[in-house]
Amino acid sequence: MRNFKRVLVANRGEIAIRIFRACAELGIRTVAIYSNEDKCSLFRTKADESYLIGKNQGPIEAYLSIEEIIDLALKKGVDAIHPGYGFLAENTEFAKKCEEAGIEFIGPNHIMMDKLGDKIKSKIVAKEVGVPTIPGVEKPIKSEQDAKEFAGFCGYPVMLKAAAGGGGRGMRIVTREEDLINEFNSARSEAKKAFGIDDIFIEKYLEKPKHIEVQVIGDKYGNVVHLHERDCSIQRRHQKVIEFTPSLCLTDEQRTAICEDALKIARAVNYRNAGTIEFLVDAHGNHYFIEMNPRIQVEHTVTEMVTGIDLVQTQILVAQGYRLDSPEIGLASQEDIKPRGYAIQCRVTTEDPANNFAPDTGRIDVYRSGSGFGIRLDGAEGFAGSVISPYYDSLLVKVSAQGRDFDDARRKAVRSVKELTVNGIKTNAAFIINVLNHEIFKKGDCDTGFISNNPELLN
Ligand code: ADP
Repeated sequence: MRNFKRVLVANRGEIAIRIFRACAELGIRTVAIYSNEDKCSLFRTKADESYLIGKNQGPIEAYLSIEEIIDLALKKGVDAIHPGYGFLAENTEFAKKCEEAGIEFIGPNHIMMDKLGDKIKSKIVAKEVGVPTIPGVEKPIKSEQDAKEFAGFCGYPVMLKAAAGGGGRGMRIVTREEDLINEFNSARSEAKKAFGIDDIFIEKYLEKPKHIEVQVIGDKYGNVVHLHERDCSIQRRHQKVIEFTPSLCLTDEQRTAICEDALKIARAVNYRNAGTIEFLVDAHGNHYFIEMNPRIQVEHTVTEMVTGIDLVQTQILVAQGYRLDSPEIGLASQEDIKPRGYAIQCRVTTEDPANNFAPDTGRIDVYRSGSGFGIRLDGAEGFAGSVISPYYDSLLVKVSAQGRDFDDARRKAVRSVKELTVNGIKTNAAFIINVLNHEIFKKGDCDTGFISNNPELLN
């Protein structure tokens, strides 16, 4: 057991604030880091202390400067580092260096992260424990010939993926053999540019699936539970836009099977801390594992709303050495987790739907949000006078709504997003409302192609 007195958050924006809040409620002092570009950002004022890092580095690189962050943490007497999502959250070297420096990394250890954070290795783990995966290669493909052979064997369409990819980037669908070579070469150079590694793999492309993922959390003693599923099928270019829980497309048997399979994967590596096991579900209700995210996710809010469990606090408690069945956490068994009602999260971004969702930048002149019963707002840049820079993710505010049934939650979400007033900068709010009011969404029956197949959502 190690009682944390000071926690550093190696991240920025809304997730940094989310973690500071969890720490404050646990009586832990918080330390923020910020880049030159974030000098005036609100998030750093929400921590007890904040320090500039990456003085001579770019806006993104600053948050990736492993040595400097660890040095700072040691100098400031920090017990643990929470990486949030993105940046260093899935960096095994960072997790390892924290461990070596005697700083607790709030997440899995580097061995588990290495096994499950990698898209190819995690599929091997899934297969070993008998969880269905999408047919694909087990090693990065080295030549166009390898790609051709696989596609010839499993049939088109196929998907090329960057092994190090994330955030919906580094993926290409190939429908015809004559396009394969070109796509393979561009995927490779794109992956090299974006992720620094040009390892590409290939798998069968599933048409019109649903994206269902299962939240898990484990302690340091091999206990792991799931916190049920989320439906994240509403995506634009493979990036999630709206997420909800529970799913409306699964039967009870399918839901149990998918959650059990998620636990099998987590147990296979004695997984600890919070993680998400992602699946695609086809039209017949068959599920296939696609990847594991060994970290907190953007959409964790909906799970918290229906289960009443604070996931970020639980992450911090298990990192300190608390057992899941300790009074502080209170999860003695799977039966202790009983979701109530429905919750929907909408990602309101500073993107202009009329201009192909190009990020908008500049100063927010007027900002009024729509809170009220059943609404939770997580953001960092939503206030009058806030300056949206071009350097980071365009997430402005996560509007999460909870209701007794799906339609109740949906109507609350619509009401809240409609109340949101942002002047001075463009947002995707009207687009979000169009999605929430669409007949297919109302039935909770969108597949991952829903947005691209319904261009009227842009009107
Ligand atoms: P990332 O790590 O970039 O988020 P994922 O592997 O989680 O990438 O996939 C993101 C999304 O891309 C999925 O939710 C799904 O919509 C789509 N996708 C990924 N793999 C496939 C596949 N084999 N067939 C069809 N769609 C896929």
